[in-house]
Amino acid sequence: MRDLLIATTNKGKLAEFTELFGHDRFRVRAAAEVLVPMPVVIEDGTTFAENARKKAHSIARESLCLTLADDSGLEVDALSGAPGVYSARFAGEGATDAQNREHLVARLLALQTEAVRFPARFRCALCLIDPLAEGGATMLEVDGVCEGSVILEERGTSGFGYDVLFMPEGYNKTFGELPSDVKHTMSHRGRAMTALLAGLGSSR
Ligand code: IMP
Repeated sequence: MRDLLIATTNKGKLAEFTELFGHDRFRVRAAAEVLVPMPVVIEDGTTFAENARKKAHSIARESLCLTLADDSGLEVDALSGAPGVYSARFAGEGATDAQNREHLVARLLALQTEAVRFPARFRCALCLIDPLAEGGATMLEVDGVCEGSVILEERGTSGFGYDVLFMPEGYNKTFGELPSDVKHTMSHRGRAMTALLAGLGSSR
């Protein structure tokens, strides 16, 4: 079975990829298990796709392993698409998930509207690089979107990042309240994974 390195240190993403890939095709490993120290990648792209490509290239080049990078985040219409590519550091460099959520709620309250739900979406860009493919390195890029809304009070305890504040369209529950297998059926990452596996010529 082939190793598949996930170019992230985000434990929430790692857990999701381990679930999403299952155990039959790849041995999913954190890049940090293989590369010590992990190369530092400056995520200065203006799109999720640009950042995912940058992370995948850097880890694949150093490790010479099949590498998958994910760049993802939340876009809130009332905040002109913020936090977007700054989702992981919305409250500042090194901010925790809790601090980012607190900052998001503060920014929405500052709008001083009556609204209690704010249209939003999660986006995920995936970039898979096989540095040792026959005939030369290959790259596969896909993305996924999950429409929904952000609420002002946290609900639920599962997931990571903004999950406890995000309700996917058609549900009256946040990702923090929904089981992870339900989240995967509609999430930005689940959708991007479906596209990735289709691109790899397999089905989930
Ligand atoms: P990245 O590692 O730069 O791609 O950061 C993505 C950030 O977006 C994470 O730190 C989370 O705050 C947020 N995010 C991405 N995907 C999810 C998700 O599935 N649930 C909740 N938050 C997410």
